[in-house]
Parts: sequence; structure tokens; C-alpha cells
Amino acid sequence: MSEESTHVITDKCADECYAACVDVCPVDCILPVPFPNEPFKKKPFMIIDPETCINCGLCLPECPIDAIVSSPEENPEAAKLNRDLVPDATEWQKQHGNWPTRPPNDPPHRPDNKLR
Ligand code: SF4
Ligand code: SF4
Repeated sequence: MSEESTHVITDKCADECYAACVDVCPVDCILPVPFPNEPFKKKPFMIIDPETCINCGLCLPECPIDAIVSSPEENPEAAKLNRDLVPDATEWQKQHGNWPTRPPNDPPHRPDNKLR
């Protein structure tokens, strides 16, 4: 599927990574990767591979902190980051597997994130 019509994970996910979205994705296109930029450099993060996402929308309501948006237009910077990190995330997942999941009611690590 083209980048124009895929869901996107924003940087709200950095250092949170509940991974609730991963379980519901029918095409396994949500991939783990260390966040590349400060202040969350190397913290757990997830991206959506825009080449594989079928835009089904199942992931969006699962995120306890609303870190997923339904189109690149809503956050072009995040869309670029998701796309750019696909090679790193693919390699990281091969070596390390997935991040551990957190219960959806676990309080966010970041003060700027709130449970929905
Ligand atoms: S559920 Fe939300 S915070 Fe957790 S990994 Fe998915 S996008 Fe990130
Ligand atoms: S929209 Fe569907 S296919 Fe795309 S990442 Fe979310 S659950 Fe996976």
C-alpha cells in the first residue's frame, strides 16, 4: 500500500511502547526499533511499515495513549520517520524480537502522555 493511505505511529510512542497495537495488526507491519532522536534516543519505539500496512485501522483504537494517527497528512514528520526507520526496525526485530508488552492501564512514563 502507498504511503498516502497508511496509519502512522507518532513520537508519543517513544519510551512508552505498550505494544497493544502489535497484537491486532493482521499483516505484522508494526515493528520495534530504538527511537533515533533525543530526548528519547534508544528508548523503545514502534513504527508502521507503509509498504505492508493495509490501512485496516485496527491498531488505532488499541493504543492507550493515542500515539497512532490514521494518515500521513496528520503528521508528515512522523510518517517520514516511520518510513525511514523500516530497514533499521526490520534488522532490530530479527536480532532482538519485539519489545515486551505493557498492560494498557500502566501509567505512561512521560508526563506529556495521558491514558485515554
Ligand atoms: S500501543 Fe501505542 S504506545 Fe504502544 S507500541 Fe503501539 S503505538 Fe506505541
Ligand atoms: S492500519 Fe491495520 S495493517 Fe496498518 S498498522 Fe494498523 S493494524 Fe496494521
